[in-house]
Parts: sequence; C-alpha cells; structure tokens
Amino acid sequence: MKKYTYSKSASLLERSQKVLAGGVSSEFRKKSYPHAIFYEQGKGSRIWDVDGNEYIDFSLSQGPLILGHSNTNVLNHINEYSRNGQLFAGQHIKEIELAEKLQNLIPSAELIRFCLDGSSAIQTALRVARAKTGRQKFLRFEGHYHGWLDNMCWGISAPAPEALGPRENPSRHPWSEGLPLESRNEFLLLPWNDLSLVRHTVAQNYEKLAAIITEPVMCNNGCILPGDGFLQGLREICDEYGIALIFDEVITGFRVSLSGAQQYFDVIPDLSIFAKAMGSGYPISALVGRRKWMEVIEEGRVIHAGTMNTSNPTVAAALSTIEVLERQLPYERMYQLGNQLMHGLKEAAADANQNLLVQGLGPMFHTGFTDLEEVKDYRDTLKYDRNKLGKFVGAMHDNGIRIIGRGLWYISASHKEADILRAIEVAKKVLLEM
Ligand code: PMP
Repeated sequence: MKKYTYSKSASLLERSQKVLAGGVSSEFRKKSYPHAIFYEQGKGSRIWDVDGNEYIDFSLSQGPLILGHSNTNVLNHINEYSRNGQLFAGQHIKEIELAEKLQNLIPSAELIRFCLDGSSAIQTALRVARAKTGRQKFLRFEGHYHGWLDNMCWGISAPAPEALGPRENPSRHPWSEGLPLESRNEFLLLPWNDLSLVRHTVAQNYEKLAAIITEPVMCNNGCILPGDGFLQGLREICDEYGIALIFDEVITGFRVSLSGAQQYFDVIPDLSIFAKAMGSGYPISALVGRRKWMEVIEEGRVIHAGTMNTSNPTVAAALSTIEVLERQLPYERMYQLGNQLMHGLKEAAADANQNLLVQGLGPMFHTGFTDLEEVKDYRDTLKYDRNKLGKFVGAMHDNGIRIIGRGLWYISASHKEADILRAIEVAKKVLLEM
C-alpha cells in the first residue's frame, strides 16, 4: 500500500499561513493530523487530499454529510434552484416547503426560524427563553459544546480533572481570551447526567433561570448517552418551574432519527436547534419550538434577523437532503453499520490488549483510551489518555481512515459494509502496533 505523505498540504499550509490567521478558517481545523490538510475532492464515503491520499471518511466534515460527499440529488437540486436567483431578501416557496417538512417531522416544531449555523440559532433560542420568562440566566452542562460565542465559550476546556472544582459549583474555564467577563455569569454550570444535582440547583435558582440547554446525547465529549430518565427528569423540572427546555440537536438532528433525538428518546423540548446534517454541508440551521415560546418572535418582541438567511442554495440543500433521507430511510442501515464498526473496534482492541473504550449510538460514536468501563460525564472524559488517542487517530489516518481528532466517528448513508470492514482491519493492525 502507498505510504501516506503530506508534503503538498504542508507547503499549502505555509502559503495559507501568510494570508489566513493560523492558516485556517476554523480553530478546530488547526488541530488536524499531522497538521491542517488540504482536500481536493469528496465523493460518497471517500475524500482525497492534495497529496493524492484517499480516505474512508468517518469525520464527514464534523457531521453534516449525512448522505456522504457530493450527493447527486442534492447537487442537482441546488444547481437548479440557484439558477432562479441566489438570495431574494424576501420569502420564497421552497422555504415554506422546508418549514412544513420540519413541522411534519419534528415533534416540537410548531413554529420555525431558519439561521445560518448552530451557534447563532442557539443564541436565538436563549433570547426567546429570556423574553418569555423574564429571567436572565440559563443552566448548561460541563463539556457540552453549544458553539463558540461568548456565553458558550466556557466550561469546555478544563486543563485537568483537578481543575474542575466541586460538582455542585464547577469552575468555569474560558476557552478563549477576549471574552467579556460578564458572559461568565450568564449561566449556571453543572456536570451532566446528575438529575438530583439539577433538581437541587434549580430549586435554589429558578427565579433567575430562563432555560436549561443540553445536547440530548453528549456527542462532542465521549459521545455519552443520557442516563435513564435524565432527559425526562429535565422535562419535568422545566415544567415545574416554567423554564424552557432547549435541546441542542445540532448533531443529533437528522442523525439519530429523521425526527431528532427528541423522538428517539421520546422527550419533547420547548425549543430545539437543528443544523449540521440538515443541510449536507450548506450553511443552514433551524430554531424550532412550541408556539407558546416562539410567539415572542412571531409578535416581533424578540428580534431574529440575518441578511444571508434562507438563500436559495441552502434551502434547496436542506430540502433535498431531507427528501433523500425520507425516500431512502437509511437509519436502520446506519445503526447496523455503526454497531458493526463499534463491535469490530472493541474486538480489535481486546485482541491487541488495548484499553480502547467505544461508546455511542451507532450513527455517531466515540473511541478513547481509558481503564474506565464507562464514561458518564465530562469529568470522566478528562481521564482519557489523549496522547494515545492522538497516536491512534494519526496511525488510522496514515492508513486511509479519517476520524475526528477527538475520537468521534460518524456514519453516513453512503458508507458501505466494505468501508466498515476496512476500518476494522486497519484498526486491528494499528492497535497491535501501538
Ligand atoms: N452545538 C453542537 C452540539 C455542535 O456540535 C456544534 C458544532 N460542532 C454547535 C452547536 C455549533 O454549531 P456551528 O458550528 O454550526 O455554529
């Protein structure tokens, strides 16, 4: 097999660093193995870089490519619809069709507003919750990623487990310099999956609390599933105290089911945010919610705006992505392939005597090295051996398997069983050599 080298990417990175700050357009890309890589083409489950290396892609551009790269239906639809125009600064019919689709599919989607990305839709949800309740703060959980904006740029980057502080009142580590210090006080922070701690904290603070926001599955750190009754418990607490329950379905939306994690776990939030897999890589997201909450936008009490919202190509991308998902219903297969891969990786690790922990749902799952039998919250994730993971991810990459640097894997509708078998074969070799 050809040895993977990255010299063309390396020299493009040098050139790029002279014009783009840090050579990249999103901080996460800096951290790729062995450095930011330049890609030339993606098709189905495969992606090729400028050095001619081919990868089976389990990163799927951080999640959006639920149909794989360059889906022909989606591309044709975008091309066709963009010929009419690109952006009208006015309404168009496909926008209604898309909203109607979300309303039909997503249990909580009584009213909808479209945005460009997850981060801005999440901020809109918080604004709605504040306006409706007249309260200022929100409750969020350690390690949950809700975008990079000021009030969400805390609690996701503790240097070590010892730095986390007490469970009842965790330390808030900033992920960035330049944050307004007040943004640190916009929220209460707790470890995830600890319902009695949430109950206790809310009972003491409900007069200040507009919302509880959570990923229904803690995808970004360890792909941790909610404990039995946890999401349902949040629902009950929010009902009891008149607080908005916000599900950040940026990853889980259209990935764990066609109707999101809210259908999968049968817990209906007041507001939720759909983004990545909805648009096959085009910038579109949706804030969906119960009319009772969304009416503050309907009435113009809460402002949500955006010049670029619902441009023709993005709406066409989302509409055709969802239509393909509805037609193909790839979920059973994605779960089956994901489970087969998770199982194969576990076996490969056991054979190689490696402490690889594999957890998740199938369509997305996480691999990390730890002696723990289960990772239940962010505090546990800090015990992963990150150096070892870096070596694993790098060696997989050098053998044509692309996964996200923090150990996350995504399955798309375009992955074939052969892709899964190949990934297991490579993992066997890599784990034995490690
Ligand atoms: N929420 C979650 C759960 C995410 O994974 C992300 C992105 N990784 C975001 C919010 C932010 O979305 P975006 O990058 O589109 O702003």
